[in-house]
Amino acid sequence: MAPTSDRSRGTRAVVANGVGKAVLNLRRLTRGGGSALPGLVAERIDPRMVSRLVAQLPEGVIVVTGTNGKTTTTKMIVAVLEAQGKTVLTNRSGSNLSRGVASAILERSAWRGRLLEDIAVFEVDEASMPAVCEQLRPSTVVVNNLFRDQLDRYGELDTTAAVIGRAIAGLDGSATVCLNADDPLVASLARYGDRPDIRWFGVDAEGVERLDHDAASDSDHCPQCGHALDYTKAYYSHLGHYRCPDGHVERPTPELSLTSFESIDVHDGASRLTVDVEGDSISIVLPLPGLYNAYNALAAMCAMRSRGVALHDATDALSHVTAPFGRVEHVDVHGRGLRIILVKNPAGFNQIIQTFLGHPKGTRLMLAINDGLADGRDLSWLWDVAIEDIAPCEFVLCTGGRAADMALRFKYAGAEADVVPDMVEGIAELLRRTPEGEEAEVLANYTAMLELRALLDSQATLKRFWQ
Ligand SMILES: [Zn+2]
Repeated sequence: MAPTSDRSRGTRAVVANGVGKAVLNLRRLTRGGGSALPGLVAERIDPRMVSRLVAQLPEGVIVVTGTNGKTTTTKMIVAVLEAQGKTVLTNRSGSNLSRGVASAILERSAWRGRLLEDIAVFEVDEASMPAVCEQLRPSTVVVNNLFRDQLDRYGELDTTAAVIGRAIAGLDGSATVCLNADDPLVASLARYGDRPDIRWFGVDAEGVERLDHDAASDSDHCPQCGHALDYTKAYYSHLGHYRCPDGHVERPTPELSLTSFESIDVHDGASRLTVDVEGDSISIVLPLPGLYNAYNALAAMCAMRSRGVALHDATDALSHVTAPFGRVEHVDVHGRGLRIILVKNPAGFNQIIQTFLGHPKGTRLMLAINDGLADGRDLSWLWDVAIEDIAPCEFVLCTGGRAADMALRFKYAGAEADVVPDMVEGIAELLRRTPEGEEAEVLANYTAMLELRALLDSQATLKRFWQ
């Protein structure tokens, strides 16, 4: 095939960009809301357009992946960079497949096909990593954790790790990879490619207690020989200080180490962290709850440090980061304070239990569980959740399409739970049982969260709760 001239390639890029932006505007006008379509259209016209656009960014691209915490970690990195006075391109919509990333790039490029930002930070779905890294040539890659997600079966995590490994093996030689030392599967990514610049972060804090019934250890075996790993410290799921009994793998000593962790506001969710890095000690008040968010902060700080940002300058930005949509939200409904939290896999659910439900206080608890396509139809993962570690509640209500499954799990944990499958009736029942001025916890999986939010946003349904 004859080589394409620069001139025709340039024209094609402008056309691809223009068509993509037109689709984007059309979607906005028709309130379609989808963010992947413009990227898809542009990809079809000129697959290299995205590569050429991001190549214009003077400070390159940072990519964040992993099962839990991608959105929060991305927000943290963006906050720190913006506090440094940089303009940042990011996929704020949480559209993290390769087409979503392409859409974000397209949306921000001008009609002539230029990006004006200093740097880009994208959260990227694990499976999209090879394609996205091939296109964007990131200079920094962050991998926070690998847990079994709701759609996965046992064993598929190793496949996911291999997919990310392939992406890492294809990175430019100058790229930096920031890895969680406490996750044996993430740590095993260091063996991919010929990468000298691996940066490690991890937790060394005392008193970070594991739940008694944490059955969500997804990958507590040696990635090389398959033997069960020996743990001297275990935090949650398979995160901790580990070693293969045959010496194949050992938790790397992290460059950034969390040396103390303290929950300082369980209601609104805030924690005080101390992070040690090369003899320097940095104190941060994070307005987010739980050890899982401390890991997100460590991941973000590791990425920033690898790019030469002084971490003392990052603490102020981190202390103002807010939780992404659905993670922890307070909603007032007819004078009752509902704290609504997204749960999507055993590791995440257990962290919510550890952070909010482990202390005896007679919690009023509702669980909204659906089995929509985005939740995965197989909800057997609920059996791996440490329901036994939830302190005795005043009542437990289960709602949503799979309310009965959730209630059965409580029954096996020796706790009573009432089933109200219809969500409007479920919320009405929750409000009836919660006195005015009091609070209740609502945990929901993905599509249940969407349904719940739609109901709570609608004044008409708010009235129906009292009928
Ligand atoms: Zn081994």
